[in-house]
Parts: sequence; C-alpha cells; structure tokens
Amino acid sequence: MEEITLRQAQDLMRKYYYERDSRRGLYATFTWLVEEVGELAEAILEKRSKEAIEEEVADVLAWLLSLSNLLGIDTEEAFRKKYLNPEPPL
Ligand SMILES: [Mg+2]
Repeated sequence: MEEITLRQAQDLMRKYYYERDSRRGLYATFTWLVEEVGELAEAILEKRSKEAIEEEVADVLAWLLSLSNLLGIDTEEAFRKKYLNPEPPL
C-alpha cells in the first residue's frame, strides 16, 4: 500500500477541495466536520462493520484537514508540536 504522510494528505485535500471549502466558508466546513463525527459515533454505536467505521474515520480526517487548510494550519506540524515530544499530554 502506498504510504502517505499527514502533510501529503492535507495537500491532497487542498488540491481537490480547497476552492469548494473556501466558497463554503469556515463555519459551514466546521459544521460538516461535526456531522462526520456524528456519523462516526453512529457507526460505532450501531456496531457496524470495521470497513464502515473506517470510512467514517477517513471522513472525519478529511474534513479536519479541510478545516486546517481554511485556517492555514499545518496539521502534521500541530500534531508534532503537541504529541511528538518527550512528555506528551496525559
Ligand atoms: Mg461520513
């Protein structure tokens, strides 16, 4: 399987969706992220197949990356700063 970094995933989202994300705007894009989190919750609570849950995990990440693009946040860097240090938060 092809490896992909978080930064590459975010670049991919920018390439395919940034224009549409920009037109939709920050608040509506955030709302979509929340909607996808709800779908993930539903999939888990309804004990759907692993494949179905995987799809929702992918959706949540995709919308988070879209949101980061709109906010000008490098998600990989943000994750590194907070979690890749000798004392990650508890
Ligand atoms: Mg979904």
